[in-house]
Amino acid sequence: MHTLQFDNRFVRELPGDPDISVRPRQVTGACWSRVRPTPVAAPTVVAHSPEVAAALGLTAEDVRDPRFAEVFAGNALLPGMDPWAACYGGHQFGHWAGQLGDGRAISLGEALGADGRRHELQLKGAGPTPYSRMADGRAVLRSSLREFLCSEAMHHLGVPTTRALSLVLTGEEVIRDMFYDGHPRAEPGAIVCRVAPSFIRFGNFELLAARGERDLLARLVDFTICRDFPELDPAAPDRISQWFEEVCARTARLIAHWMRVGFVHGVMNTDNLSILGLTIDYGPYGWLEAVDADWTPNTTDAHGRRYAFGRQPEIGQWNLLCLARALASLMEDPEPLRAALERYGDIYGNEYRRMHAAKLGLREIGEADVALVQRLYRLMQEAEVDFTLAFRALADVDPVEPSLAPLASAFYRDDLRARYEAPWQAWLHDYAARIREEALPETARRESMGAANPRYVLRNWLAQQAIDQAEQGDYAMVGELMEVLRRPYQDQPGREAFATRRPEWARHRAGCSMLSCSS
Ligand code: AMP
Ligand code: MG
Repeated sequence: MHTLQFDNRFVRELPGDPDISVRPRQVTGACWSRVRPTPVAAPTVVAHSPEVAAALGLTAEDVRDPRFAEVFAGNALLPGMDPWAACYGGHQFGHWAGQLGDGRAISLGEALGADGRRHELQLKGAGPTPYSRMADGRAVLRSSLREFLCSEAMHHLGVPTTRALSLVLTGEEVIRDMFYDGHPRAEPGAIVCRVAPSFIRFGNFELLAARGERDLLARLVDFTICRDFPELDPAAPDRISQWFEEVCARTARLIAHWMRVGFVHGVMNTDNLSILGLTIDYGPYGWLEAVDADWTPNTTDAHGRRYAFGRQPEIGQWNLLCLARALASLMEDPEPLRAALERYGDIYGNEYRRMHAAKLGLREIGEADVALVQRLYRLMQEAEVDFTLAFRALADVDPVEPSLAPLASAFYRDDLRARYEAPWQAWLHDYAARIREEALPETARRESMGAANPRYVLRNWLAQQAIDQAEQGDYAMVGELMEVLRRPYQDQPGREAFATRRPEWARHRAGCSMLSCSS
């Protein structure tokens, strides 16, 4: 572990806050505050990602070393670590919220990995920072486990994401009122070490712009371009618009991936959007079960449904608009920002069509196919069909004699299956005709579909079962889920139970269909 090399450019190259206390405050003229993690009583590693450890250059022995638990619980620092909390703001649910910042995330350092890459190591739940406001800086096991499992699962699905190195129990209790309804309870505390090349969010730029700190905003932009976008020329006069264009493109691709795999982020506030186009801040996220464009797992958003599945592409653009407004103050002519924002729609559309061509086993989605895709979504929604199961099953549709049989297990309700049998047959008939016209060899079609339609995703109720067991001290299911989700596109004999419809008990169970921001 002592072989880890750090190169903490964020704190070295950008100005920090001179106050080293954790007193809640507004921090101006700085991008970060120096802060130490608050030690915890009894750290125990309950899960880790061997892939992330290997990327960093950590061996299995390092992970077993008692010092690993100490370091990744925030009780000890390695040489070269220089912990900080970042200062950022954000638009929450459409409204400017002012300064937010890392209220419970503490970055330990930027490690230079064995893979030659930069990996910022960040503890989530490591105690108060100047940005904690009235909160405790801690995180509970249930939400930490959800972040740990899902970020690794997303990586294996091929969706850009922050990663997770470790999940450590603190040995301390944390009080949470899960549904903010006057029923607080003590829950086990935990800390995830998340890992990404950069944790900079749209909100880091927005806060400086909102405060009129133009020089610092310019510095942060140049820093980000230099450190995180090495493919861009940092001396180019139009570097800001080039960079913004790239951020738009990455965000468009990211959200197209979410729509491909049926992921709902749940809290797409601008403080939760990564400048690198990574999925970041796993809170009340969820996986689409029965197709429903209006579905969100986040009870805090149940009324407005701003961040529902079907609205994610549009919200991505809205968030980019907030970022563009922040950057406009640095430009004489902000017109290129507007053009880039418009191109977001084209890039998203192209990515969505490309991914859906693969999902349907077609070479491309042409003009005439758009209606076919729309009809499929409408049918899946009206007939309450499971998103993941249905797309996976389409590969088994016979192009000569199509029938609904391969999709049978994707229906949640027999009555709706019967009611929609005829329009489904009609759709399958048209789809089969389209496949025949495409004339892709059957193996190529199945391969394309198999690589775009996962069999296994972290279904909300699976995560909840793993949480229930972990809260009783049993981590077997966590390990098994990690195994299954490492190969989401491969059929894994004996693991059928991880690829089934949501059971009836989970329909209205907290944690399965309803989640809040309390974590
Ligand atoms: P989120 O909705 O999780 O993205 O959090 C929004 C803001 O609240 C961020 O600035 C977080 O750091 C902060 N926050 C959330 N939970 C806590 C907590 N338990 N302690 C301190 N700050 C928190
Ligand atoms: Mg956040």
